[in-house]
Amino acid sequence: MLSGRPATLVHQAGLLDAPGPLDPRALSRTCRLREAVYALIRAWPLAPAADSAVREALAEVNEAARLPLPRHQLEEAGHLTRTGGVDEVLGAVARDALDLLSGADFARLRECLNEDCTRLFVDLSRSANRRWCGMAECGNRHKVANYRKRRRQGAG
Ligand SMILES: [Zn+2]
Repeated sequence: MLSGRPATLVHQAGLLDAPGPLDPRALSRTCRLREAVYALIRAWPLAPAADSAVREALAEVNEAARLPLPRHQLEEAGHLTRTGGVDEVLGAVARDALDLLSGADFARLRECLNEDCTRLFVDLSRSANRRWCGMAECGNRHKVANYRKRRRQGAG
């Protein structure tokens, strides 16, 4: 069961309809998978001499990808329900990570240019020159900071 911010993210990602509370052990597993995926993406494709930490990250993501997936059920009224727990969320995230690493979209994977942000995103823009994870957060912050900097320079 998941709650708080992790539950909101799970719901927003369309993984589960009603995530429940997240116990400390499940939170630890979730953070470990997140770090393994991040380490793997940063080092991908693996060099023959890749260090053991990256190889362990690959093993961890592969293991998580064998977990069950969220259960989907289409109701007669046409409503899709998605149920499961932490295992199902981790299984879905790990499989998506493996699909990304092994697919054509990996070439368009970018890290947000905001130094305070650690988000990764797939740049599907036509020009392939997207710089921010999202305009609502990092893009607008950058624009505002640049505007203030120009005003200060103009006033000085
Ligand atoms: Zn960002």
